[in-house]
Amino acid sequence: MDQIKSLIREIPDWPKPGILFYDITTLMKDSAGLTAVIAGLQEGVKAEDVDVVLGIEARGFFFAPTVAHALGKGFVPVRKPKKLPWETESVEYALEYGVDTLEIHKDAIKPGQRVLIVDDVLATGGTAEAVAKLVEKLGGKVAGFAFVIELDFLNGREKLNGYPIQSLVHY
Ligand code: AMP
Repeated sequence: MDQIKSLIREIPDWPKPGILFYDITTLMKDSAGLTAVIAGLQEGVKAEDVDVVLGIEARGFFFAPTVAHALGKGFVPVRKPKKLPWETESVEYALEYGVDTLEIHKDAIKPGQRVLIVDDVLATGGTAEAVAKLVEKLGGKVAGFAFVIELDFLNGREKLNGYPIQSLVHY
């Protein structure tokens, strides 16, 4: 995991002052890094415990389809509003200032399906918590979360009440 950490670029004060942004593009363009991150995200995940892999727009899309393919499963996108063309279910969640919305196609998950949720960063956990609610609104079950990066000091994990969580690198 030191290999993965060494390939993540840290950008101070982006997108706004006070934020240290973890840039995974430097990790993804490195062939060994990309192999390690895809292997890591599915480590410990048993294919028989997952029916579908969900990725959160935008950077979750970098990883989730490849993890799905490796597990022999399908991929489902959760998108920002007004991007999905068919009927959607939506969830609102709190941001630092205001609220945001995420959407999923109503038929993307069948009742009882077990869903592995993939994203690049677990920060405050607001996004991941909202996506878990979306899965459950459709009758799905959260099989677990897989993140590349977890920002431990923001305690996002506490919002994801007891679901299995795996993060490849911690800050
Ligand atoms: P949160 O809802 O606070 O857990 O934020 C999670 C989302 O924000 C993830 O989808 C990340 O893409 C993004 N994010 C939050 N903080 C950072 C950071 N320091 N560096 C890179 N991405 C971040």
